[in-house]
Amino acid sequence: MVFNNIDFDTYFSRYPDKDGYFGRYGGVYIDDKLKAAMAEITEAYFSIAQSRRFIAELRRIREEFQGRPTPVTHLERLSNALGGTIQLYAKREDLNHTGAHKLNHCMGEALLAKYMGKKKVIAETGAGQHGVALATAAAYFGLECDIYMGAVDIKKQAPNVARMKILGARVIEVTDGLATLKEAVDAAFEAYARDYQNCIYCIGSVVGPHPFPTMVRDFQSVVGIEAREQFVDMTGHLPDAVVACVGGGSNSMGIFAGFLNDPVDIYGVEPLGRGRALGDHAASLNFGTEGVMHGFNSIMLKDADGNPAPVYSVASGLDYPSSGPEHAFLHDLGRVKYDVIDDEETIDAFYTLSRLEGIIPAIESAHAVAYGMKLAKTMDRGSVLINLSGRGDKDMDYVIEHYGIR
Ligand SMILES: *Cc1c(COP(=O)(O)O)cnc(C)c1O
Repeated sequence: MVFNNIDFDTYFSRYPDKDGYFGRYGGVYIDDKLKAAMAEITEAYFSIAQSRRFIAELRRIREEFQGRPTPVTHLERLSNALGGTIQLYAKREDLNHTGAHKLNHCMGEALLAKYMGKKKVIAETGAGQHGVALATAAAYFGLECDIYMGAVDIKKQAPNVARMKILGARVIEVTDGLATLKEAVDAAFEAYARDYQNCIYCIGSVVGPHPFPTMVRDFQSVVGIEAREQFVDMTGHLPDAVVACVGGGSNSMGIFAGFLNDPVDIYGVEPLGRGRALGDHAASLNFGTEGVMHGFNSIMLKDADGNPAPVYSVASGLDYPSSGPEHAFLHDLGRVKYDVIDDEETIDAFYTLSRLEGIIPAIESAHAVAYGMKLAKTMDRGSVLINLSGRGDKDMDYVIEHYGIR
């Protein structure tokens, strides 16, 4: 399919280019020492991870350990409540082991670490979701796992800290600066630069320097490949629209990858939080400008000095001041439409899906559900496939405390 002069039949073989660029976005913006480490990972990824043995092993693990394929569920009562002419469906990443899509790329990254002969995986975590997924993968493969986390986040995310420790990870408290995600990223990169011969850095989304945006997308594309086949099996046709929430952008790139070459409208949903003022949302693709942070060039939210701006969302997994370079590329191309959903609409959708379907979604995923419901109201007929990136168990206490039972 040709869209805006880009032939999507050959898209995956042409993007990114050999330097890791999707059009003008992507690249490797880090110091020389880490460049050598990234080059090692790039070389390994494009050789080892494409081998039949690696692919077969990952496929077996996805079935036996992760519980894949996750199902596609027809949201029949929700569809009826919206008038019954549009049918809504959900791809159930909430049923992936550990309750979200993140394990899809963590298992791939940790398997690559094993094939490369590394002893340890390193990462930062904010809310702790990436840390838990990576600690799970490390336990499965018998790798050491060091997770860097800001002191402030450690206090806020006690259950996830406990999970990581039970799984055998070392949680390293970072007390510099504001002691949150940014400082944790810096500390983790420093530790990696000191010891990259023995370990591998595992990024938690389709962000960071090349090859991570591509590698994480490829490991997540299992979501889109499964969903497309399942949907066609169930209904005999493709969905008219596909919807996913976008933080760094991994669950969305995963499902979008299955549909980029199809005549399907694709929507990425960013968090509008409390409103449109800088600091009240994390909708980088809707309101941001081009810039470099965390080792890659993309579209980002900046403060007056050009540094990453403070961001906010009710969903801690979505409050990141940028998104992956491929999203910036698809945004400029117009192949994916990026829109916003605010906190209120999200909490409404959280309760609606729970009550009508018996599925408590993660607050991140509830952004996509809210958008799918809104979209259905603008269509006369057809079907919408929503990526349900995770389950809401982690969010229940927060929702009850701040919004009460509805
Ligand atoms: C981390 C997370 C997200 C956001 O990350 P992406 O990389 O944008 O997918 C979304 N949903 C859930 C459940 C998460 O844990």
